[in-house]
Amino acid sequence: MDTSLYSPCELCPRRCKADRTNGKTGFCGMPAEVIVNKSMIHTGEEPVLGGKGGCGAVFFEGCSLRCIFCQNHRITSLTGKGRSYDEESLAKLFHELASEGAGAIDLVTPMHYAPTVAKAIKRAKETGLKLPVICNCSGYESVSTLKLFDGLVDIYLPDLKYYSSKVSAKYANAPDYFTTACMALDEMFRQVGRFEIDGSTGMMQKGMIVRHMMLPGNLFDSKHIIDYLVSRFGDDIFISLMSQYTPMPHILENEKSPEELRRPLSKDNYEKLCGYLADLGQTNAFIQEMSSSGSLMIPDFN
Ligand code: SF4
Repeated sequence: MDTSLYSPCELCPRRCKADRTNGKTGFCGMPAEVIVNKSMIHTGEEPVLGGKGGCGAVFFEGCSLRCIFCQNHRITSLTGKGRSYDEESLAKLFHELASEGAGAIDLVTPMHYAPTVAKAIKRAKETGLKLPVICNCSGYESVSTLKLFDGLVDIYLPDLKYYSSKVSAKYANAPDYFTTACMALDEMFRQVGRFEIDGSTGMMQKGMIVRHMMLPGNLFDSKHIIDYLVSRFGDDIFISLMSQYTPMPHILENEKSPEELRRPLSKDNYEKLCGYLADLGQTNAFIQEMSSSGSLMIPDFN
């Protein structure tokens, strides 16, 4: 691991080559300095994650995908309200969350800081952290960057967001999303393998949960995603189908926003997708109540 990976930066598939150690930023909008917007005990993740104590979530500022409808939109760019961390202080933060009762450490969108975060996980584990470490990310990742986490991350929690390159170009300026994410998911699965659940606690110790948040007007795209995940990984992973899409104020206020993203997800389409997944024979899956849509699922960021 080498901090020169920040400069020129090619950590994510955008490969902007930004000189992040000299104050420049690329598509993700972040310098090399790690900025955490919020750390908290988070009880809203899938039920096999965190247990009674919840997950010790660490929300990093910035994102290299930046979907136009992002539910965490407020922290996808520098807010000026985050705190900066190095590998030592980040490792200390993981220990603090563990001592608050967290059942897992949940790193939310860490990949554009991967060299520092990997060192911090290593340091925390060397100094006694026993909790599973979760990497919660967009799926749009470089295999070479993921390799920095090999042997350090226990649970991968990626999204698989888009199938069609037209859809991923329209919503995230990433026509290569699906092919790139497929390679990333293969690397994540290579590292962690089939999931393992602790028989006494019911908590996942290692493995992969792939999330797909269904978007209004995109049932066709979602079905392709499900087809792919079931045929590629089946019950070796969990598939988490999310209904929590919420049209955020920045989408509603922008007259150029796509019309379909201005409305909430239809219950009928979400139920169709859940039925489709069940008909394919997938048994390891999570679905959400439609009441998950709305601001309740979105942390109150700094
Ligand atoms: S991590 Fe950021 S700066 Fe680096 S290549 Fe990706 S978008 Fe560009």
